[in-house]
Amino acid sequence: ILQLYVPLNWFGTYYRAIQKNFVDMENMFDLLKETCDVVDIPQAPLLCITQGSVEFRNVCFAYNPERPVLKNVSFSVPAGKTLALVGQSGSGKSTIIRLLFRFYNTDSGDIFIDNQNINSVTQASLRQAIGVVPQDTVLFNNTIGFNIRYGRVNASEAEVIDAAKNADIHERILNFPEKYETQVGERGLKLSGGEKQRVAIARTLLKAPEIVLLDEATSALDTKTERTIQSALNRACANRTTIIVAHRLSTIIHADEILVLHEGQVIERGRHEDLLGKDGVYASMWNQQNTKMTAEAPSSEESSP
Ligand code: ATP
Repeated sequence: ILQLYVPLNWFGTYYRAIQKNFVDMENMFDLLKETCDVVDIPQAPLLCITQGSVEFRNVCFAYNPERPVLKNVSFSVPAGKTLALVGQSGSGKSTIIRLLFRFYNTDSGDIFIDNQNINSVTQASLRQAIGVVPQDTVLFNNTIGFNIRYGRVNASEAEVIDAAKNADIHERILNFPEKYETQVGERGLKLSGGEKQRVAIARTLLKAPEIVLLDEATSALDTKTERTIQSALNRACANRTTIIVAHRLSTIIHADEILVLHEGQVIERGRHEDLLGKDGVYASMWNQQNTKMTAEAPSSEESSP
């Protein structure tokens, strides 16, 4: 039914965005059901989620056969723990996320959730277990309330408001001209990047999935917004298995494991302190980010009024 609400021009924009980036996969799956190569096996059972553990076992994948993108990637994330993926642009971070969502099938190797191969269960049950907070959330041309409720369509009014409060966007919505009934999206009120991200967090809070995939925004938000978003995210990820595609290393110092990817291979892994101790690629990324921050700090002070 939702598909009827979606204008075709929006679909085009959206599809291009998806091809370019890891954007809004949850919505995308509803929209692209018909065009996806991935199919359920006959009589596939539902994914039976007990804990929410995730495992990649020797996963290889290529978008084009001549150019491998993931080469023998293995990791496991115990239930409730946090894994962070770092590495330069194009190293394969978002591809890992897309495969877990079964946007594509692996070429070889397997992915398990609670010891069930994700290829053997229905896609609907797989996606039900996973919440995504994308870099850039594309909003429906509908009310802000509808856009939040999309996380769980049968949620009550009170639950929608509660999720908005926990995502730190409730106060903002009360200032919109028609509050929760305000039209947003392409043809309505435009929301800022930080606001859209908070809508995605509110949806995830409503959905209450066992697994959360988080694609950290690359675009800079001001420090205060960033801090509020970080605490809203912490609420959305608390006690859930979380996989973060990280761009700012400062947000993952407490991750249970960090994987450093380079050209589709895991080249370093461990906790933040361990990796700093190794004095390898991660340590140099860390030093580089810190140097950059220190170098930028005085000029931003100078330019502030
Ligand atoms: P970024 O930090 O820039 O988001 P990433 O580490 O997430 O990068 P991926 O998006 O996983 O990288 O891309 C890995 C490689 O796969 C890149 O070389 C990219 O060009 C290629 N790639 C990504 N999506 C597609 C696609 N739909 N078709 C073909 N190649 C793709």
